[in-house]
Amino acid sequence: DLRQRGGCAGLSVGTFTGTVLRARSSFYTVETPDGSLVECRLRGRAKRDRQSSDIVVIGDRVSVARQPDGSVMIEEVEPRRSRFSRRQAGPRGSWREDVMVANLDLVVAVFSCDRPPPNPRLIDRFLVVAEDNGVEATIVANKVDLVEASIPESVFGPYETIGYRVLYTAAKAGIGVDALRSHLAGRISVVAGPSGAGKSTLLNAIQPGLRLATAEVSESLGKGRHTTTAAELHRLDAGGYVADTPGIRELGLWQIPARALAWCFVEFRPYLGGCGFNDCSHLHEPRCAIRDALAVGEISEGRYDSYRRMLVGDAG
Ligand code: GDP
Ligand code: ZN
Repeated sequence: DLRQRGGCAGLSVGTFTGTVLRARSSFYTVETPDGSLVECRLRGRAKRDRQSSDIVVIGDRVSVARQPDGSVMIEEVEPRRSRFSRRQAGPRGSWREDVMVANLDLVVAVFSCDRPPPNPRLIDRFLVVAEDNGVEATIVANKVDLVEASIPESVFGPYETIGYRVLYTAAKAGIGVDALRSHLAGRISVVAGPSGAGKSTLLNAIQPGLRLATAEVSESLGKGRHTTTAAELHRLDAGGYVADTPGIRELGLWQIPARALAWCFVEFRPYLGGCGFNDCSHLHEPRCAIRDALAVGEISEGRYDSYRRMLVGDAG
């Protein structure tokens, strides 16, 4: 099967543009326009153009050329239309950014209505990471078969009110699976959420055989496994890709700089700039537009509590 072989399989012309599906140390698997896969290395010129850790990541569009010796090289990396990165706090208030996926379109945050019960503070953490990266977020409320209809409504309905798309699913019964499949079609997505929420069951319902490393880790309860897993884009038959990278499981724990935090709560945005102090933390200052909105119920107690906890570093 040429698709699996790598090397020069599928390379009929010398140069083409493709998508990076897998990245590990200095080897990259690139999907050619006809859908075959080619193993590539990185040319020195392309290396110098960017910071070392983020030169080429999954999702990048790259131009690739076959060399006289038969090897295939990535010559150039196209500008990214979006990037999904993890920020890590460094010394003296500095932040380091690790790009995990280029050109990401969608973060799908999967929570279950029960077993485990949904934790709105954790839902907010996932949404904040998506907003900080400027990537659309969709919430999946899975296991609707386990609870009365009023439960998903009361927990997830408020997120629809502030503008998020919520898909209600029962992965095992196949409810909502078609809607999720067409939601992912043609886009690059990350599927995240707490262990046991049903991510691997959902993905398997969407496309049998699709298995992410996240599922293997939660099943084996092994700790070391994800650290050796390469970042990968899994192709969907319906078109599009699901990204799997080491570190995606911890998405809910990623840190966000305090200055960016309030903006990541979408329903806070209309009030930002209306506070008495430019650098208002919205915790205790007088003439705070956010706390005024909270007092009249325009901002919910729960969401404000999530904001406060994330700001003061309360894992909650
Ligand atoms: P993951 O850790 O997020 O990948 O979760 P899994 O897909 O491994 O699912 C965790 C458990 O929940 C498994 O025992 C699944 O069979 C079960 N499960 C998944 N989806 C549903 C659902 O819609 N309804 C019910 N009742 N159970 C589900
Ligand atoms: Zn304020």
